[in-house]
Amino acid sequence: AGPDPDLPIVAERLSNVKHKILVLSGKGGVGKSTFTGQLAFALANDENTQVGVVDIDICGPSLPRIMGCEREQVHPSSNGWSPVYVQDNLAVMSIAFMLPDEESAVIWRGPKKNGMIKQFLKDVNWTDADEQLDFMLFDTPPGTSDEHLSVVQLLRNSGITGAVIVTTPQEVSIQDVRKEIDFCRKASVPIIGVVENMSGFVCPGCHNESRIFYPTTGGAKALCEELDIPLLGSIPLDPSIGQACDFGSSFIDTHADSPAAHAYTRIISKI
Ligand code: ADP
Repeated sequence: AGPDPDLPIVAERLSNVKHKILVLSGKGGVGKSTFTGQLAFALANDENTQVGVVDIDICGPSLPRIMGCEREQVHPSSNGWSPVYVQDNLAVMSIAFMLPDEESAVIWRGPKKNGMIKQFLKDVNWTDADEQLDFMLFDTPPGTSDEHLSVVQLLRNSGITGAVIVTTPQEVSIQDVRKEIDFCRKASVPIIGVVENMSGFVCPGCHNESRIFYPTTGGAKALCEELDIPLLGSIPLDPSIGQACDFGSSFIDTHADSPAAHAYTRIISKI
């Protein structure tokens, strides 16, 4: 097969998108979608920054819940689908907006998922012609599978700014970060850095910090030093993060003084 004839159309559509960032993780449940959603909220705190979030976790879309727009629907406009707006400068696109209810499962093979991701990029009116989208964030499923290959191929002509890899400190998650790094290097995706999530928990009773996931070989810091990639920072376990996500709110706004919000803010300033 020759090159995909839709690639130039995607590139044209995304020509006014400044930064395209993939959020990756080797394992599920490490906080990747949480990070994507909170990063989007934080970037959009500046009302002059236009942010779009593309949920390419086709079989497990959780961003609409995290971003507080889960029951919304997408509408056709004269220039393609209009994404769901969480606020004026923050738009989300997810397959969840097209499902009949929250219990519906998407059971699709690769080519169909690829087609949906292509539509998210080609047929969605992310910006008006004279406007610019400053950030387009991609929340991905765990691992390196069809969706990752699709997005890398679809963005080939328009370029990917880089990838942020989220992990917990536990060895089983850290080991999979190596695979994500290998994927990025093979697919020529620049690595922005690694975020260590759920590192440490401060007991509200005794105020001692516990390491829930014990990093037997030094965690993300050791890995980043070994592979010469930036460690963007570590976010502690904080039940309020889960709570904010369940309510679809910005944790950095609702818990601005917490150590976890400070950690988030420091990390986001490096992206
Ligand atoms: P992934 O996208 O990697 O599968 P999620 O973002 O869905 O993971 O997060 C998994 C669970 O962990 C969610 O219930 C989320 O609210 C919770 N969570 C994520 N990060 C933290 C954190 N730093 N502290 C507490 N809970 C967290």
